Amino acid sequence: MRTFKLYNSLTRAKEDFVPKDVGHVRLYACGPTVYNVAHIGNARMAVVFDVLASVMRVLYPRVTYVSNITDVDDKIMDAARESGETIEFITRKYEAIYNEDMAALGVAKPDIQPRATEHIPEMIKLMEQLIARDHAYVAEGHVLFNVPSFPQYGGLSGRSRDDQIAGARVEIAPYKRDPADFVLWKPSTPDQVGWDSPWGRGRPGWHIECSAMAEKHLGLPIDIHGGGADLKFPHHENEIAQSCCAHGHNDLASFSKYWMHNGFLTVEGEKMSKSLGNFTTARDLLDQGVAGEAIRYTLLSAHYRQPLDWSMQGLESSKKSLDKFYKILDDLKNVADIDAAIPDEMMDALCDELNTPKAYAVLNALAKTAAETKTPEGKAAFKKAANILGFLKADPAVWLAQDKIASGIDAAWVDALVAERVAAKASKNFARADEIRKILAEKNIMIEDSVTGTTWRIG
Ligand code: AMP
Ligand code: ZN
Repeated sequence: MRTFKLYNSLTRAKEDFVPKDVGHVRLYACGPTVYNVAHIGNARMAVVFDVLASVMRVLYPRVTYVSNITDVDDKIMDAARESGETIEFITRKYEAIYNEDMAALGVAKPDIQPRATEHIPEMIKLMEQLIARDHAYVAEGHVLFNVPSFPQYGGLSGRSRDDQIAGARVEIAPYKRDPADFVLWKPSTPDQVGWDSPWGRGRPGWHIECSAMAEKHLGLPIDIHGGGADLKFPHHENEIAQSCCAHGHNDLASFSKYWMHNGFLTVEGEKMSKSLGNFTTARDLLDQGVAGEAIRYTLLSAHYRQPLDWSMQGLESSKKSLDKFYKILDDLKNVADIDAAIPDEMMDALCDELNTPKAYAVLNALAKTAAETKTPEGKAAFKKAANILGFLKADPAVWLAQDKIASGIDAAWVDALVAERVAAKASKNFARADEIRKILAEKNIMIEDSVTGTTWRIG
């Protein structure tokens, strides 16, 4: 059996993936906080873990991929106050938009997409376990995790205690026993969203959600936990602390055996983020007519752990690569479709810690072979290799027609000129044939002659 190799952020080493149960692989990735439209930095995480889940589904008989929706958060409360809409309206609206946008990027819906607000009893139970084991305490309506009670704290991020305190962005909170302690539960005023609990009416902190939902839907330990690199501290560090301590475990891997963190999507070297205002949303790009597949191609063009600088040139070059691939498939439309395994070279690349740049090189080589040999085997290998990455699932004719439609060029006019040129060539009127080629070239329309006839395309 092929082994998946991954860089485990917890051990800071490249390791062979050995699931707890080879019959059932369990993955969890932290999903969005739904109060506005996701930007393509958020989408990078969704696309990366979508590819991971696809690879796991090839390797193992059963995979459950869970990615949550954070639908309770102070930022959501602020957004509701500003817009005058209810929290439920806002969260459901942006959850639906997120799922639509990710679908346009070829991201399959996770097997389970739990909402935080539907797991309050599980969170309360975890907090009770933490209090019972003296890892958490109640103070002024809050429940707080006591960081010094878990000496292994900091093992994922490698942060020193000073850094932990600085990173925890401690507000003046006299009820905290230790400045690094973090909130599991906080009180709500009557006008704030809240649930009844043994500590009064309140709402959960962000970290406890993921501990509760991962355990409920996957059981512990889970195999791989993922998210963007910014979540390592404090979010993932806190998830580990909560989940280990609730069950009296000291081993950090008893929550998740492996951790994978995607690098940032950057703009001129800076992290793309809402707060810096340097963001582009998937929705804006899709509205401008950019193909979701081209966005996906760009997001996977760098290795997932490396930063990826976003640029329109990068997007255009992705579009060109996909145009080339679809053109090859279109040229092979009369070659029989047969079933085939995913080529070994492609699986080798992806099992080498999701090496998508290597996978792209493999895909290009397979495209070349398919175009040259024109065999059913070559075509099938190329398609299978593309499909595992989420590419070339559209009808080539439809893909290639997109530009024609978007360009606003009158296809009937072009078709008529192309037919006239074919007739001119047949009657050896080469001057008129050349003239027609020139007229079309001025509109960036290229003509291609082949044994099966003459076709045209934009650029
Ligand atoms: P947020 O809604 O900010 O909590 O982010 C949702 C997910 O997107 C998290 O897994 C983040 O780590 C990830 N994320 C946010 N910004 C970026 C970025 N610029 N590049 C890559 N991932 C990001
Ligand atoms: Zn999380």
